[in-house]
Amino acid sequence: MRVSEACYRTWLADTEALSWSGGVLVVGAPTAFVAEMLERRLFELVLDSVKRVSGDDVAVQVEVAGPAKAEAPPRQEMTSHPASVVPEVRLNPRYTFDTFIVGSSNELANAAAAAVAERPGSVYNPLFIYSAVGLGKTHLLSAVGHRLAEIGLSAIYASTEEFTNQYIAAIRAGETEAFRARYRGAEVLLLDDIQFLIGKEQTQEGFFHTFNSLHMSGRQVVVTCDRPASALDLLQDRVCSRLSGGLVVDIQPPGQETRLAILRSKADLIGSRARITAGALEVLAEMEHRNVRELEGSLNRAVAYAELTGGQVTSESISMIAESLPRPERAPLTAQGVLDAVAAHFAVECSDLAGRRRDARITLARHVAMYLLREDAQMALSVIGKELGGRDHSTILHGCRRIAGLVNGGNPVRGDLVSLRQRLASQRPRPAAGHLRRA
Ligand code: ADP
Ligand code: MG
Repeated sequence: MRVSEACYRTWLADTEALSWSGGVLVVGAPTAFVAEMLERRLFELVLDSVKRVSGDDVAVQVEVAGPAKAEAPPRQEMTSHPASVVPEVRLNPRYTFDTFIVGSSNELANAAAAAVAERPGSVYNPLFIYSAVGLGKTHLLSAVGHRLAEIGLSAIYASTEEFTNQYIAAIRAGETEAFRARYRGAEVLLLDDIQFLIGKEQTQEGFFHTFNSLHMSGRQVVVTCDRPASALDLLQDRVCSRLSGGLVVDIQPPGQETRLAILRSKADLIGSRARITAGALEVLAEMEHRNVRELEGSLNRAVAYAELTGGQVTSESISMIAESLPRPERAPLTAQGVLDAVAAHFAVECSDLAGRRRDARITLARHVAMYLLREDAQMALSVIGKELGGRDHSTILHGCRRIAGLVNGGNPVRGDLVSLRQRLASQRPRPAAGHLRRA
């Protein structure tokens, strides 16, 4: 609470306590650069905070510990909340049409979203927006929600994860009628990240019926997804065809001009135009980022650096800053990486995964490999088939569906997936370890 949010996220959030003994707390920092900044700029604050919390006279040491651990595994489908107490997701107040920068990469999606907010239920129904992560789907969906609220229409915004949790809880509590009534009572349904329905047969059922009754009474449905509708073949066919039955629009990664406009707008929004020069924003817009979320992350880190050093980020210093600070980034998964990890985990040979043997353990390992290649490495079914010894598209689909079904049914294979994902995440290259100490 004693530093700004950007400062916290950049310098402190990824640190961890490595050890605590003999009156010495060893703090691990993700990179040498962060460790150095902690030592030079934030040391007194950290020391003081530790003393306050521990009530003791302690010493603090900073060490480079490498990047923080992999993210927690995705939350499970089940929840113990009764349906009625599941909190509603509120819209992010910053995600409006006004703050959405339009360029050729997203103008179709923006226009479609605006049209739907203007005349819900009468133009494109459903509206299906898809893109890779971090390109503005949630932003646009929220913008629709805000616009509707302004004109007094009731919209329900829910992440599909939440929709799923509520639905399962409603079934458990015997309150499915209330669940349906609540969703059917909405003028507009905004459902984010529909790919979460994959492998959740029961929830697909709930979605299908909710969708139909909304649609038949002319209510608007807008969904977002991280892949095209045609790639949703792990969903029931009828759900898939419902989703693609209206207007389907995509969002592409923004070009340089749009990136610059986004950066300017974000810098204004966080009130930090004075901390960063126009030239630095231009350099930042040229640098490689995978999506807008990462671009925004770099801006925030640059601003956090300027805050800490009391200076201004210029076109000269920006590259150094952007490169020195850790990015929450993972090397892309390769087919071989996934196959090796699966083979090691199930103690089978890689050649067995691609081979024809059909004992239970090998078959399970093979299906898990298909599932991970599909879900995590986002490879096409035909490509996965080639990797796995020339199997055809429908065989791969069958394997993926089987694992999705097991995961959904609470099968122990869930645990296998968690360990495998951890294993894959920990294979990321780590920066060279170094040590910085201060008693
Ligand atoms: P997605 O849901 O596609 O993963 P988000 O909607 O969460 O992506 O967007 C990630 C971040 O990028 C958000 O902070 C959002 O405000 C920002 N963003 C993406 N596109 C734009 C844009 N065209 N204009 C302004 N901000 C954008
Ligand atoms: Mg999103």
